[in-house]
Amino acid sequence: MPFKPVEHPKCPKCGKSVYAAEERVAGGLKWHKMCFKCGLCSKLLDSTNCSEHEGELFCKVCHARKYGPKGYGFGGGAGCLSMDTGSHLGGEGAN
Ligand SMILES: [Zn+2]
Ligand SMILES: [Zn+2]
Repeated sequence: MPFKPVEHPKCPKCGKSVYAAEERVAGGLKWHKMCFKCGLCSKLLDSTNCSEHEGELFCKVCHARKYGPKGYGFGGGAGCLSMDTGSHLGGEGAN
């Protein structure tokens, strides 16, 4: 029987092996207990309040702010649309 090395999964946060005693699972990835925290507010998470997004971990609050449908607070997405850019071109008697 050939020797088969034990493959420990790598923590997406720090890139080191994760052992069963310290693993946390989210989004099909394994994280260290100490790496299992929000990428924005650094709050330590557990399986009930975490949200994994493309290999990054967020608390529910930060995830909703960053990727939620409203997107308020982080200036992304719809917030970039501005309706007042035409006013100075038309001239409202400012010159
Ligand atoms: Zn780690
Ligand atoms: Zn957070």
